[in-house]
Amino acid sequence: MVGGVKKIVKKGLLGEMGFNKGGGTINWFPGHMAAATRAIRDRLKVSDLVIEVRDARIPLSSANEDLQPMLSGKRRVIALNKKDLANPNIMPKWMRYFDSCKQDCLSINAHSKGSVKKLLDLVEFKLKELISREPTLLVMVVGVPNVGKSALINSIHQIASDRFPVQQKMKRATVGPLPGVTQDIAGFKIAHKPSIYVLDTPGVLVPSIPDVETGLKLALAGSIKDSVVGEERIAQYLLAVLNTRGTPLHWKHLDNRRMEGLPIESDEKPEYNLKDLLPKRKKPLDRSGVRYIEDLVTEVQRALFVPLSDFNGSLENETDLEILIEQQFEALQKALKIPHKASEARTMVSKKFLTLFRTGKLGPFILDDVPDVSNAVS
Ligand code: GDP
Repeated sequence: MVGGVKKIVKKGLLGEMGFNKGGGTINWFPGHMAAATRAIRDRLKVSDLVIEVRDARIPLSSANEDLQPMLSGKRRVIALNKKDLANPNIMPKWMRYFDSCKQDCLSINAHSKGSVKKLLDLVEFKLKELISREPTLLVMVVGVPNVGKSALINSIHQIASDRFPVQQKMKRATVGPLPGVTQDIAGFKIAHKPSIYVLDTPGVLVPSIPDVETGLKLALAGSIKDSVVGEERIAQYLLAVLNTRGTPLHWKHLDNRRMEGLPIESDEKPEYNLKDLLPKRKKPLDRSGVRYIEDLVTEVQRALFVPLSDFNGSLENETDLEILIEQQFEALQKALKIPHKASEARTMVSKKFLTLFRTGKLGPFILDDVPDVSNAVS
């Protein structure tokens, strides 16, 4: 990572945010998550393969450290989901990285059946290598919040119903809360001979936050609630990353009239919705709404580009970087048409700016750096 971001993250500006000192444990996870972890371990024990879903924008930061020993000891496929939001030029480097760790890995888009079918092909291939005494094999999906586990399981459900219109009940003794007591768990059948079932409930893993920057990346990707970290801090971090990478300088000649032809309405209710960027009178998102957002993106890009191209300071110097970010914040407020006097103006600017990033309108990104393969661990 570029020095400037590291420094600014260490400083008070982004540093104090409810993470315990020295990183490590975090004090805001609800207690039921610990109980859930025990249940996940039990289900993992009876699973023959695990699909670990991670966010393709943070292939390492979206891993759960505590469970890694158990996960890497199992037959595992890592699905880097939301590949549509991740930089396609960097993705092959990550594939090579996981390959060098001898870890099966596939980048996917959980909303695309074609993409999910490729993942299921790999799962079947891995399981058929296994000379099994079991007539039924189980696959479990795990991952930290918001990486797309439910979206993936939904797509798997659809594919399973196409392949086996009459879904049979899964027959396999599974774990219960007490030793020797079995319990029904449900799944979708995706293959025959041997029968392969994907469990219908994903395992929600607690994110690991060894340092503040990992926390900020997880927040940016939506795995940690915005309210825990604060929208403004997340937006400042994003600006620090964009500036130190020089990203806004590439926006000079960009034309944002490229949303044409994109589906405007869908039944889904995504968490980060472009509709939230429209003035109230314009909802729902129709053609004129799409135009409005395209223009907004251009304005936002200009709000970042102009201060950066006029910038005389050093991006390595945290005070300079802070001044630049402050100028961009002011420019963003105008670009996003947020009245100067609005009491929550900075939060509103941050929310809208984050929505643009999270919906991919500022371009595809990968926030983690590919580790040096010579000391690679997955
Ligand atoms: P979970 O918490 O891991 O179960 O995550 P969800 O399945 O609820 O997905 C979280 C958000 O990410 C939802 O708004 C999904 O629509 C969105 N999402 C899931 N998969 C993808 C993907 O491949 N691409 C994009 N762009 N969004 C996705």
